[in-house]
Amino acid sequence: MNIIGVDVGATKIAAGVVSPEGEVLSRVRYPTANSRGGLLDTLTQAISEVSHGFEVDGVCLGVPGLVLAQENKVVFSPNLPAIEGIPLKGELEPRIGLPVTVENDNNAAAWGEFRFGAGSEAENLLFVGLGTGIGGGIVMHGQLLRGALGAAGELGHVTVQATGPRCACGNRGCLEAFASGTAIGRRAREVAAEQPDSRLGQLAAEREVYGEDVTNLAREGDETALSVLEEAGRWLGIGLAGFVNTFNPEVVVVGGGVMEAGELILKAARREVHLRSRSPSRELIEVKEATLSPESGVLGAAALARGSALRSTPRPVKPLTHQPSRASGGLR
Ligand SMILES: [Zn+2]
Repeated sequence: MNIIGVDVGATKIAAGVVSPEGEVLSRVRYPTANSRGGLLDTLTQAISEVSHGFEVDGVCLGVPGLVLAQENKVVFSPNLPAIEGIPLKGELEPRIGLPVTVENDNNAAAWGEFRFGAGSEAENLLFVGLGTGIGGGIVMHGQLLRGALGAAGELGHVTVQATGPRCACGNRGCLEAFASGTAIGRRAREVAAEQPDSRLGQLAAEREVYGEDVTNLAREGDETALSVLEEAGRWLGIGLAGFVNTFNPEVVVVGGGVMEAGELILKAARREVHLRSRSPSRELIEVKEATLSPESGVLGAAALARGSALRSTPRPVKPLTHQPSRASGGLR
């Protein structure tokens, strides 16, 4: 049976018809509307367009924010407030004539990478989605870890600096406030003001600078832009080191739009993870780029809708390549 997976992002909505084997048979993308009516219309349009010509048994929406699983709705979404409180299942089912379930977008992406992507060899995985904000998903012992209310996995809202910048969630100094696309854009504007003669500074004199501008300039070798990405990568690694110590995963998969910058961020993150995480978790962990991007969410939502959030055959954990050591990773 085919399922439609929908990834509802703060800026775009991607929908795909997914086969049981995890193949995307058709796909559409729309810009995200920022009103309740607009969102429901866009979702209806995207689902009806993508399903044309296919037999489909259900729809699963991966949505940003805190999802109350039993109610199939989002109660809190700092980066897409228009979706808050919409009874998505109740509103969409009569419009599209298919059963609808709702999942957190990063839980869906984590499950997609676990089943079909960069974590397909692992049994214990963390997914971190770097986009407008930072989301996360946790798979432990082959099972999606949801927590008491379904709210677990908010890896972007761990405090990494108590007095840091204000986060979209209202707190200060969250990982999201240092390493998301929004944070990279904000830091780039600060650095541009300090260094007006840099290429970043010159661009900022012409127009507002965003996270993707930093990636583009860094790829062209601009030192200032490279340093902004490296700084974001360091903060990401500081967050990840704590998660590695907490969960002892085999792999951390990093996805989301900011991963356009790839190794320009991940290299610094890996270094920080190595310096700060503890043995033997440190010897085991691999920090990898998502391999299904931008379709991790679509594939994972469809797989979750099949009720497959628990895989039956455990995968063996790979042997350690280095001996565990009592010493720290080298942080002085
Ligand atoms: Zn936060």
